[in-house]
Amino acid sequence: MTISASSFDALQLKNVGRSFGGQDALVDLNLTIRAGEFIALLGPSGCGKSTALNCLAGLLPLTHGQILIDDKRVDVLPAEKRDFGMVFQNYALFPHLSVQKNVAFGLQMRGVPRAEITRRVAEALALVRLEQHATKLPGQLSGGQQQRVAIARAVVLEPRLVLMDEPLSNLDAKLRLEMRTEIRRLHQSLGLTTVYVTHDQEEALSLADRLVVLREGHVQQIGTPQELHDNPANWHVADFMGYRNLLDLTVETVNGSEARVSGRGLSLAGHIVHHAAASDSVRVAIRPHDLTVVEPGASTSGLNTVEATVQVVEYQGREFAVEAVTDAGQNLFVHASSAPRPGDRVTLGVAPSRVLIYQADLAAEAGSPVTQTPLESVAS
Ligand code: ADP
Ligand code: MG
Repeated sequence: MTISASSFDALQLKNVGRSFGGQDALVDLNLTIRAGEFIALLGPSGCGKSTALNCLAGLLPLTHGQILIDDKRVDVLPAEKRDFGMVFQNYALFPHLSVQKNVAFGLQMRGVPRAEITRRVAEALALVRLEQHATKLPGQLSGGQQQRVAIARAVVLEPRLVLMDEPLSNLDAKLRLEMRTEIRRLHQSLGLTTVYVTHDQEEALSLADRLVVLREGHVQQIGTPQELHDNPANWHVADFMGYRNLLDLTVETVNGSEARVSGRGLSLAGHIVHHAAASDSVRVAIRPHDLTVVEPGASTSGLNTVEATVQVVEYQGREFAVEAVTDAGQNLFVHASSAPRPGDRVTLGVAPSRVLIYQADLAAEAGSPVTQTPLESVAS
C-alpha cells in the first residue's frame, strides 16, 4: 500500500474561538492532537462542533487564538494550503462525474502525473471497497457507497489531517454501524490523523482515541472514552454519556470523598466528584447499567438498595432494560439479567462508587475547570 499519512508531531489549537455577530459559537478551545490520533468532537446540536471543524479547515477565520502544526502557524493559511481533507455529512460529490473522476479531481487540480493519478485512484477505491463501481455516477450508488467515495476522495490526497463532519448521520442505522467499522479500519491501516464531529455518543466512544465534549461553545471535558464514560466531569457530560438517572437530592453527611444524599424517598451513599457539603443541593448521576435488579438470594452487602415496582421491561440482547418506580414516585432506569414483569416488586442495588455526586448548579459554564488528560498518559 502506498497511500499513507504525511505527518507531523503535534497539531495545537490554542485558545481557538469564533463568534458570529458578537455571539460566541466557540470559546477557548485548547487541544493538542498527536499525529495518528483519532479525536471526536462530541456534543448536542448547536454546541459549536462544526464551527471548531471549519476553523481547523480554514473555512472560517478565527476570532481568537492560533492553530499550529509543529510550532508553525496554519490558521494564517488559506484552506487549500493546509493540506487537510474534508468529509461532509452530505457527501458533496460532483453528480456529473464518475466515481473515479470524483476521486481523481483533487489530484488533477494538483497537477499529479496521469499514471500516478490512475494508480492512486485505484488504490483509494480499493481501500473503500468500491473497485466495482469506479465508472458509475454518484446517483447510481447508495448513501453508504457515496460516503465511501467522499472518504476515498479525501484520503487519496494523503492529507496531514482528515476532518469529518457527521459523515454518517444521513445513513440508516445498519449502514451507520458498517461505516463506523470501515472508518475505524481505514484509520488503523493508514494512520491518518482524524478529527471527527458527531452528536452520537456511541459513535464517538467506539471510534475515538480521545473525545472532546462541547456544550454551548465551551469544552466540558477531554479524555479517553473510558475516562469520560467512567468519570464524567460534570452532570452535563454524565447526561451525554448515558447516565440516564439524574436525581436532584440533598447532601446529608460528608465523609472525605463520600457522602450520603437523600430526597424523593431515597437515601444513597455516593462519590463526590468535585465538592459537596452537608445540606447542599446536588445532582446525582447513575448509569442504568450500574443500577441493577438484585436477583433473589443475591448478596446486597456494600450496595445501596432501593425498593421499587417494575413498570416497563425491554429485551436488549442478553439483558433487560427496565423502568421502575419507587414508592415515592421516582422513576429509575435500571438493568436486569433476567426478565422481571411489570408490577413486580424488586430490590435495586448500586455500588456507592457508581453514584456520582455533582453540584446541581450549572458548574459547566465558562471559567469552570476543564479536565484534560495529559498527552503523556494517553496510550499510543
Ligand atoms: P454544531 O455543529 O455543534 O451543531 P455549530 O458549530 O454549527 O454547531 O453552531 C454553533 C453556534 O454557532 C450555533 O448557535 C449556531 O447557530 C451558530 N452559528 C454557526 N454558524 C453560524 C453562522 N454562519 N452565522 C451565525 N451563527 C452561526
Ligand atoms: Mg454541525
